[in-house]
Amino acid sequence: MRSAPRLPVWWRSVVSLSTSVRGIGDDFPIDLRSLTSRNDIEVREGEMAALGITLDADTIKVRSSLPADLKRLTTAHEIGHILVKRSRCPWLSSADEERFCDAFARELLAPVSAVGTMPASDVEGAAARFGITQESILLQLAALGIVEPLVSAGSGRILCIACGDRRRLLNCACALARGGSTGELPHYPLSA
Ligand SMILES: [Zn+2]
Ligand SMILES: [Zn+2]
Repeated sequence: MRSAPRLPVWWRSVVSLSTSVRGIGDDFPIDLRSLTSRNDIEVREGEMAALGITLDADTIKVRSSLPADLKRLTTAHEIGHILVKRSRCPWLSSADEERFCDAFARELLAPVSAVGTMPASDVEGAAARFGITQESILLQLAALGIVEPLVSAGSGRILCIACGDRRRLLNCACALARGGSTGELPHYPLSA
């Protein structure tokens, strides 16, 4: 049996915050229109270079031309920034904010508790059920310890439980994979 991955120290907070923002009832795919309204968040759409931006503690804007699954992830990611602006994450360092918002977005739309009940082989079916990308499902499965902390997406991209699909951490476990090393990958390093 695969050992559970070590997750960032704020992972539990990602789960509890997303549960609190979702409120009661987990009908999937999550209805983001009613979720944002319940949380007093205004969502605007428009054409812009960024996928999404947080305008203030109550307003976000997402790029209107995004495919549906990416638009949902982007909206959920910006909701993460709203929580930071609303001082719901006092333990979060600014260096971790983007990774937190990515993890929060995945957990808001596809909680590990629900993803874990789906057959792990049916990534495509799970992505359709939760209305998010297959990459996000793979990362949730990695958080559950069901797939490797470093997984290769169908596109050949390396996904990393620490970096998500952004691949930004120089010292992360995925750095070796990015550099093409065939050596054994170090264990995910970013936990307490
Ligand atoms: Zn962001
Ligand atoms: Zn990484």
